[in-house]
Amino acid sequence: MEKLVRLKLFILVTILGATVLLAEFLRLVVFASQPDVILITIDTLRADHVSAYGYKRATTPRIDQLAAESVLFTEAHTVAAWTVPSVVSLLTGLHPLSHGVNSGLPNWEKAEVLEQPEIPASLPLLPELMKQAGYKTFGVTENGHLPASLGFGRGFDFYSNSYFVETLAAHKEITQSPLYHEPGPRFIWIHYYAPHAPYLAREPWATEWARAAGTAIDRVPELIDPSGYEKFNYKRGSQEIAALEARYDSEIRATDEAVREALESLDPEKKALVILAADHGEEFLDHGNYGHINHYPETAKIPLLVRYPNHRFAGVRSSRLSSILDIAPTILTEAGADVPKAFQGAILQDLGTSPQPDTRELALHTRRGPGQRSDSLRAVTRMFHHFLGPPKDFDVLYDVVADPRQEHPPLNDAEQTTEFASRLAKLEQIYSEAKKAIVQYKPLSSAEAERLKTLGYIN
Ligand SMILES: [Zn+2]
Repeated sequence: MEKLVRLKLFILVTILGATVLLAEFLRLVVFASQPDVILITIDTLRADHVSAYGYKRATTPRIDQLAAESVLFTEAHTVAAWTVPSVVSLLTGLHPLSHGVNSGLPNWEKAEVLEQPEIPASLPLLPELMKQAGYKTFGVTENGHLPASLGFGRGFDFYSNSYFVETLAAHKEITQSPLYHEPGPRFIWIHYYAPHAPYLAREPWATEWARAAGTAIDRVPELIDPSGYEKFNYKRGSQEIAALEARYDSEIRATDEAVREALESLDPEKKALVILAADHGEEFLDHGNYGHINHYPETAKIPLLVRYPNHRFAGVRSSRLSSILDIAPTILTEAGADVPKAFQGAILQDLGTSPQPDTRELALHTRRGPGQRSDSLRAVTRMFHHFLGPPKDFDVLYDVVADPRQEHPPLNDAEQTTEFASRLAKLEQIYSEAKKAIVQYKPLSSAEAERLKTLGYIN
């Protein structure tokens, strides 16, 4: 009898031991199969000024090399025409109408941002999920709208924000962190700010490109807020606009140099999953404005490159509709982590090379100024815009196959325009309802609400 008990005990211990060993083995396998992940976002980089996207100037030689190793999405879109809602979508996997972080003003004197809500604590962020999946997490951002104090550092082991100072040296901060050199896979997010106004003249490119365009960089002042150019009444196609674009392009070229250094330093063996994107584009009177206000292609379309480990799908050009919302689910999938059910983007691994017909529709939502709003719907062959004034409310619909830059008069088709308006309204309703389910809000104090109302951020 005692022998039998001893035998049973022996078997039990053996099974337990084997289970522990198996678990440890599986953990090591998963660990080894988790690639380093490098997410690079470039503020204000319009897709059609990237040479890999066909731009006339060689603005991005290093990014072009990355593009050759990547899937390049030709029809990638942001969800909002400025940093805060767009980057919160990047980190939460949720549309701006679902995460609700849509306002914020820089206070240049005090190096802080005002009236910007914290990312709701109830929303899991990409770096938190990566940390749970076993990653060491590093974030370095240069846009002052992304401070740790407003939730952007949540989930990062190391996070730094330079408050609008373009250091272009994020990789150095990361590699100086002792944690960087400890074992384990790394998740790294770098957000560069340089192409955003003020458009500094980065040499030698700025002078060279301005001269080649028959202008000079000093024809235009450097302004922090590009809407300040309105008072000069520059004309589209003028030497002044050419000078602004030469300056902007030189900032892209300088950022490309930083990307080269970062990738050489952080991923010398080219084994990481690398994703490069922008938060939105930039406009130079293409549709009557400066900066980034509208949802026309110069602002709505972003570069999106995905270089997978082992460079699988290298060189694929995908024209399927894709979104900044797709980045988080794509990274989590590649890291072997679960994608939260609430996330609203697609997994690009499925989308990039899929032969399925594209039936996707993307909604963009931006609050612009007091009482103003842009809501747009991009479908495969159409883009619909609903502009809520002032100066006036109007709806327009474009055929993006015949007119990809939306520079010709919009379609004069009342029936289709109404149909697209209702499709957009339905999609926005889904996103708004998702917010009720996901976000638990602290109600605003009446003073905060009054202040936001005055500034036009709430109705
Ligand atoms: Zn931005």
